[in-house]
Amino acid sequence: MNVVYVSPEIEPFARTGGLGDVLGALPRSVAKLGHKVCLFMPLYKQVNRKEFSLSPTKITVAVPMPNKTSIGLVYSSCMPDTRIPVYFIENAEYFERAEPYKDPATGLDYKDNCERFAFFSRAVLETIKALGQTPDVLHANDWQSALVPAYLKTIYQGDTSFRNTLTVFTVHNLAYQGLFPKEDMPLTGLDWSYFNWKQLEYHGKLNVLKAGLVFSDLITTVSRRYAQEIQTQEFGRGLEGVLQEHSKDLFGIVNGVDYNTWNPDKDKLIPSRYGPKNLKGKRTCKRHLQKKCGLKEREDVPVIGWIGRLAEQKGVDLLLEGWEELMGLDLELVLLGKGDQPYEEALKSRASRYPEKASINIGFDNRLSHEIEAGSDMFLMPSKFEPCGLNQLYSLKYGTVPIVRHTGGLVDTVDEQVGFTFNSSNTPEMISTIKRALEAYRNTAQWTELVRRGMLQDWSWDKSAREYVELYQRKRV
Ligand code: ADP
Repeated sequence: MNVVYVSPEIEPFARTGGLGDVLGALPRSVAKLGHKVCLFMPLYKQVNRKEFSLSPTKITVAVPMPNKTSIGLVYSSCMPDTRIPVYFIENAEYFERAEPYKDPATGLDYKDNCERFAFFSRAVLETIKALGQTPDVLHANDWQSALVPAYLKTIYQGDTSFRNTLTVFTVHNLAYQGLFPKEDMPLTGLDWSYFNWKQLEYHGKLNVLKAGLVFSDLITTVSRRYAQEIQTQEFGRGLEGVLQEHSKDLFGIVNGVDYNTWNPDKDKLIPSRYGPKNLKGKRTCKRHLQKKCGLKEREDVPVIGWIGRLAEQKGVDLLLEGWEELMGLDLELVLLGKGDQPYEEALKSRASRYPEKASINIGFDNRLSHEIEAGSDMFLMPSKFEPCGLNQLYSLKYGTVPIVRHTGGLVDTVDEQVGFTFNSSNTPEMISTIKRALEAYRNTAQWTELVRRGMLQDWSWDKSAREYVELYQRKRV
């Protein structure tokens, strides 16, 4: 099969969260299964053209916008260490900005996001045509590429390049829907007749993600549990009705881990390598982390790690609410996060009173994220909802025992055999679960067994990639 992936982010070129990790790994695994694969993303300022040897192709695409024509220059490169082509759509006006989606000065989404990603989605289809490709599968991801399936069923209907193309749309997080004022509808290039409650309209606004749900042949999301949850009022964010309607074409496939990047046995970003049979290196990593973060270098005190976007989704308020009680316990905390400013400030101010116990690191820091995975004993994820979650999977591999709220992908991937779980999103439950973990930590032999069990699990992409391919094929026949 010829499979084309379209995504607003791909690791290692640009990444703000789990979506980037998935697109950096799934296509490689699908290619390994013998399929022809290529990828598309915008050419953001962040993409290091030199490091990744981007070169201009001869392709230029023109996308009609209401009052102008927007031009895209197409660059190409390969996924590192492979021959998998990656095409980048360049348009300086849209993509040469400080960050992919938000203005860092205000913390707000760019006002022209609808225009930027409508342009990107159309430019991708024009490039596919210019390349002379006839994809069997066009796999779009999140609202930023959700117009791709809509265009195939409308503007490009009957186009010979896409005659046999199956469209797949993956929801990596239903909380980000690409909601825009109704006035943005003309920017999509779609007829106003699609602006109705069954298609692109959502309570008087334009909902771009809904286009992906309504027009795709297949919808997937990143865990089995989340696929069920989003069909309920509690988790459906107002789209549960649409998802229920499409439930026979909605599948949950749990994300995997790229063990070339996330593996304590080979990780070059950590001070000492280790594996389930030799955990000595993990102790070195712990000391290194404690030192780097200004914590007391005590081996007997468990270090709890936290990495993630500082957003309501991740349960930051539980941490803030339980802060004083947590600081009264025999533990150390290292947090790495970036996100909502009030959370950043509240965390920094609370930690200032506990310099040797809590280390709050604000920013996006890949090296530190590896050091935290390796140097912590436990990893806390009290998410309100979690489509899949990747850090609990990295934690398992690094022998860092996950403590998670049981929701979404955290149900699919963590149980009491390898971690500690709690059901309701409330602070006392989180604290009592942390206390359970601290208690268990005191029994070194049993703790080591728990650590090893997690490390020996296999969450590599192979299995999940096979499930995607089966879906692509099942639907086609
Ligand atoms: P989400 O996609 O909801 O942000 P995931 O758990 O699926 O959450 O994926 C988050 C990814 O982003 C992980 O690879 C995680 O290590 C990384 N990450 C998140 N925040 C940071 C940060 N501040 N610094 C470095 N890496 C981060």
